[in-house]
Amino acid sequence: MGSTVGLRSSPRAWGCGWNVARLLCFAAICWVLGTQMEVGAWTYHYGNKSDYSWELARNFCRSFYTDLVAIQNQGEIVYLNNVLPRHRTYYWIGIRKINNVWTWVGTNKALTKEAENWANKEPNNKGKNQDCVEIYIKRDHDAGRWNDENCQKKKRALCYQASCQRSSCSQRGECVETIGNYSCDCYPGFYGPECEHVVRCKNLDPRPDCSHPLGEFSYNSTCKFQCQEGFELQGLDTLQCLASGNWTAAAPECTAVKCPALATPGRGQLNCTHWHGDFTYNSTCTFSCEMGFVRNGSETLACTALGQWTVRPPLCEAIKCPVLDSPGRGRLNCTHWHGDFTYNSTCAFSCETGFVRNGSETLECTALGQWTGHPPRCEVMRCPKLRDLEPILMNCSHPLESFSYGSVCRFRCTQGYFLNGTSRVQCQPDGHWSDKMPACQEEAAPYFKQVLLYMGGGAVALVALLLTGMFIALLIKRLSNKEEEKTLLNPTSNLGAPGVFTNAAFDSNF
Ligand code: CA
Repeated sequence: MGSTVGLRSSPRAWGCGWNVARLLCFAAICWVLGTQMEVGAWTYHYGNKSDYSWELARNFCRSFYTDLVAIQNQGEIVYLNNVLPRHRTYYWIGIRKINNVWTWVGTNKALTKEAENWANKEPNNKGKNQDCVEIYIKRDHDAGRWNDENCQKKKRALCYQASCQRSSCSQRGECVETIGNYSCDCYPGFYGPECEHVVRCKNLDPRPDCSHPLGEFSYNSTCKFQCQEGFELQGLDTLQCLASGNWTAAAPECTAVKCPALATPGRGQLNCTHWHGDFTYNSTCTFSCEMGFVRNGSETLACTALGQWTVRPPLCEAIKCPVLDSPGRGRLNCTHWHGDFTYNSTCAFSCETGFVRNGSETLECTALGQWTGHPPRCEVMRCPKLRDLEPILMNCSHPLESFSYGSVCRFRCTQGYFLNGTSRVQCQPDGHWSDKMPACQEEAAPYFKQVLLYMGGGAVALVALLLTGMFIALLIKRLSNKEEEKTLLNPTSNLGAPGVFTNAAFDSNF
């Protein structure tokens, strides 16, 4: 029967469970092993029925327990020396020379200098074949120390049963064997005697879309953040709960998508409503223009989820009035403040020399897009109309309009008169004639001329008298001849009719 040395009883340490198979196993062990000393967790066992070579001793340990003992510290050595009984051939432990290096066979790790516990003058490799290690238990000297020995020698197997199980430490940590127990070296993110607790991170609010493989907002929880339409994430979109209990980063925030800031239009006003911050998603801006200016685009713009305004911002443009032309024979002089012929433009009219403005001198473009009045016309300056009355004879030329600026009139007199004054007047730009109208005066004939005239007249009168006398004489003669004929033909005929005829002929001839 094997022996187990230990501190306290524990069903887990038995290795044999409560089912039938375990009972059979227990029976087998009990048959093979002598006495058995049993401890709670990590337990030591030794075969007290037989002694084995090192190889068989190891087989024995691995068949019924875990392995030959692996000594971890001085305390363990002291403990073993205390609790194990003295045996003539001592006990095999789990160290062997492999490729000339002393090696812990359980872990296949080389024996370190610090862990060495050789007896005096050991290892001496006596006989050149001492490749295995025994521990002196309760020896008079060098008790608890090691000696290299021939592996074929027969000794007791000193076994240990590991207390760490597959499920130890909740599989969340390294199980560390200790005398009579084990401890858990928890992996990051876990704590507690059995690593049963999971490190927690702060709750996230508002709750993102998370996966919690180990517990709500705990180590290895992963949370993914998303923003509503029109908002964008500031920060990382995915956070993970670290073993330290901190998230990989600060929780991100959703901020409204920004649109380009709008400027107040020149000559206008901008009136915005911002729901989530200046010029951001869903902000609406309304444009208006000052009096005299008109908006050339949409009145209202909205910031979309894409960070763009629904339309381009409008401009305020000055209201336009109809374009004015220079009047005929005149000039136009305009002052434009906001653009040609637009609100507040002022136009002054003037006329060429000899023309006069008919209408307002200045017009202004109003906020309604209309001029303050009708554009004036330039009319030619008129002079007083002239009349020609005999004996004045007048001849006028009118390059523009009758008796107006530029008209020229020339004068002469009828026969027997002479001109007293200018022979030519011109209508001046100021509407006045260049001179007074002249007059015609009767001519004063020279004396000899008059004499000649009288003499001529006398001669004519004399000839006329002579001719008249001759005519009368002829007439009388003819009448007397006719009287003779009438007396012969018709004694009742009248003498008056030829006189009438004579008068008529005279008139017409005259
Ligand atoms: Ca030796």
